[in-house]
Amino acid sequence: MLNALLSLALAAAPCSAELVVLGTSQDAGTPQIGHPEDPAWRNPALRATAASLALIDHATGKRYLFDATPDLREQLQWLDTHDPAKGRGLGIDGIFLTHAHIGHYAGLMFLGRESAGSQGIPVYAMPRMAKFLTNNGPWGQLVALGNIALKPLSEGTPATLESGIAVIPYAVPHRDEYSETVGLMVAGTTARALYLPDIDSWELWESRMHIRIEDMIARADMAYIDATFFDDSELPPAVAAKVPHPRITTSMARFAALPAAVRARIRFIHLNHTNPARFADSPARARIAAAGFGVAEPGERFCLSKG
Ligand SMILES: [Zn+2]
Ligand SMILES: [Zn+2]
Repeated sequence: MLNALLSLALAAAPCSAELVVLGTSQDAGTPQIGHPEDPAWRNPALRATAASLALIDHATGKRYLFDATPDLREQLQWLDTHDPAKGRGLGIDGIFLTHAHIGHYAGLMFLGRESAGSQGIPVYAMPRMAKFLTNNGPWGQLVALGNIALKPLSEGTPATLESGIAVIPYAVPHRDEYSETVGLMVAGTTARALYLPDIDSWELWESRMHIRIEDMIARADMAYIDATFFDDSELPPAVAAKVPHPRITTSMARFAALPAAVRARIRFIHLNHTNPARFADSPARARIAAAGFGVAEPGERFCLSKG
């Protein structure tokens, strides 16, 4: 009875910290360069910016970003419209980076001299990522001029923010040319969310890093996971072998036996422009919904801390 009362009280409590989906596309955005036939060029409602989440901490008035995308201008403008900054400057109190592929860090360019000229925006990065930014232009200039202040992330170690929210990085297998790649578990005081936009395969994660995706989903209340391709029909076979993301169809088959309540936590994100599930009225989207999963939508919110 007490538990029931507590959960009722919690359900009614206001949300003090929440995640907001800013973008849902693969790195290069949708539509992509070189595809003049894409209907999204004619219909802005079909466009999608690169995958990114914002964390709004209503208790402290602070805002954080997960990944800095090439679409940062548009994404920050959206955020300023819906959750205006409380402080001075850009109102970005920290940026957590997953890896050094263009969709995930290139937006840092807007923090430099040619654009916002920010002062000391904390950028949380894993060791190779931080080294890459420090030692290579134009990113090194952001560090040298103090536009950004690098904050170390360490595998499995929580980076704790104000209000008790913690961000825990987990290394994942991916094409790590310039940096390691991480998925991020964002732990609020009442719920947790996994942000994992890029991974080569669930099986490799298990064999190399001994982490099972099902265990991570079990520990989360929401899981935004890599859904770059729907199936193998989107790319020529020779190209497909070089971009080994788990296909949505493969993931759905793997997760099919999970309880419905657990499947409902999974929200596919990071959709390539070739992915038919990017269209809300597609048979691919209907299949995802029928199997009990979801596709992340720009603007959707997930509460991490209540009361
Ligand atoms: Zn990516
Ligand atoms: Zn990547």
